[in-house]
Amino acid sequence: MKLGLMNALLQQTVLIVDECADDRETYRRALLQDDRYTYQILEAENGATGLALCAQKLPDVVLVDEGTGLEFLNRLNAQNGQVSLPIVVLTRREDAAIAIQVMKQGAQDYLLKSEMTPQSLCLAVHNAVERMRLIADLNRAQIELRQQQERSQLFAEITLKLRQSLQSDEILQTAVTEVQQLLNADRVLIFRLWADGSGQVVQESVVPGYTVVLGRDIYDPCFPDYRERYRQGRVNAIANVETAGIQTCHLEFLRQFEVKANLVVPVLMRDYLWGLLVAHQCSGPRQWVDSETDLLQQLANQIGIALSQAELLEKETRQREELGRSNAELERFAYVASHDLQEPLRMVTSYLQLLEQLYVDKLDAEAHEFIHFAVDGATRMRSLIQDLLSYSRVNTREQTFEPVDCSLLLGRAIANLQIAIEESGAVITGDPLPEVRGDASQLTQLFQNLVSNAIKFRDRTRPLQIQINASRQEREWLFEVRDNGIGIESQYRDRIFLLFQRLHHRADYPGTGIGLAVCKKIVERHGGRVWVESQPGHGSSFYFTIANQEIARS
Ligand code: ADP
Repeated sequence: MKLGLMNALLQQTVLIVDECADDRETYRRALLQDDRYTYQILEAENGATGLALCAQKLPDVVLVDEGTGLEFLNRLNAQNGQVSLPIVVLTRREDAAIAIQVMKQGAQDYLLKSEMTPQSLCLAVHNAVERMRLIADLNRAQIELRQQQERSQLFAEITLKLRQSLQSDEILQTAVTEVQQLLNADRVLIFRLWADGSGQVVQESVVPGYTVVLGRDIYDPCFPDYRERYRQGRVNAIANVETAGIQTCHLEFLRQFEVKANLVVPVLMRDYLWGLLVAHQCSGPRQWVDSETDLLQQLANQIGIALSQAELLEKETRQREELGRSNAELERFAYVASHDLQEPLRMVTSYLQLLEQLYVDKLDAEAHEFIHFAVDGATRMRSLIQDLLSYSRVNTREQTFEPVDCSLLLGRAIANLQIAIEESGAVITGDPLPEVRGDASQLTQLFQNLVSNAIKFRDRTRPLQIQINASRQEREWLFEVRDNGIGIESQYRDRIFLLFQRLHHRADYPGTGIGLAVCKKIVERHGGRVWVESQPGHGSSFYFTIANQEIARS
């Protein structure tokens, strides 16, 4: 009912093209009886007049006589391209061939004049109008769908680009260029907001010829409360800044940059207002459509996410670099300190020894005991300093990696430990070890530290056996140095690799607590890991990995 009422109010412009004035009059009268539409009726007695009328203004419906109709339709098509007008052809003859031909020319319907009644004419007009409307709706829907698909695809592409950029600058650069292309806007910029109320244009993509705003610091007291509104997700779309009724100061501000229309969406990072994504039209006013506003808003969300990710990554990289720097500084300090301490320490030891030798008769037993303690302390200090030096040298005195035969390096380590091995009666066994790429002197030291610990922490109630083997894993070699010594309680298995961490008193097992920290550093420099597995009272297995040579080379 409502629809009928609305249609009744609609006025259709009808063009009647027929050389017979009586016929034209019949159609006019028939149409005046229509209860659906009212009509403004234009009449033409031939095709040429009809075309001239069409050229002035396209009618909503055309009623055309079959005689003039074919030619009229041909020329109408030539004049306007394939016309999408509701056309009803009226014919005197019942001839299917003609009917087909006029339909091909774009007519929606045809009626036999002899059978025509006012109702059938109105019905034909209704049907033609309705059919055209349906076709137009369908076309519109298809266009919208295609646009929607194109937008979704573009959105996905831009999002991907934004996500792939890991640096804020790159993200913003991508955002402005892509959005400018997408919206076909004259200027797209990113306005970064600072805590003090000011802001700066940090990225811009602008059509050549318009003012460049990039780098401008903007503090605008004209809109003091705008931040809060944007923080709540407000979108500001102005189709024509001159007629939008905005404050004069704001208008003057926009005029400086030739802005005729603007679209502003907030870029929120987590829940604070990071900045604004702004599109300007400078060539003239522009009605921003909903889909554009939605798209810009979604992109601003994506920018916010990408920026958060980049910020996290930047923070992490900064922390890593800072840690690396402070580690390097510490190492340099340890190196310099231990190196410089050696000289005065040598003096202390030498003078103590001189004191002991030259004053042997003049000193009492207690003085000798004190000197002995002092010498002992100085000796321990020397080993501490030497161990610390070797720890700090792992990274400061590194050699370049080269192919090294681990059996050979183990042989060197064993030769260095010859006396301790003989004294302990250790039996060292194992299969030949592989060739790896590494630093020969550091790997020798690694073997030496592990074997010397196996000797030091042996169980004196049984003969010491040390087994050294390596097995090939997927990407690396796994080395094992196994002993049947005193073993390690499970809660200490990580701690022992830290600097100065020892589990025993000096009197029981001498040492500085640096040996395993050096091992860890060497292994890590070679891209591997080191750990221990142990059964207290039965023995320990120290494992470490070194990258497989072929893989390391490739
Ligand atoms: P240090 O040998 O100078 O004490 P390390 O850093 O080489 O220092 O070793 C740290 C601690 O790990 C040792 O004090 C010892 O308690 C334990 N440890 C190392 N190797 C072994 C081992 N083969 N068997 C048992 N305990 C060990």
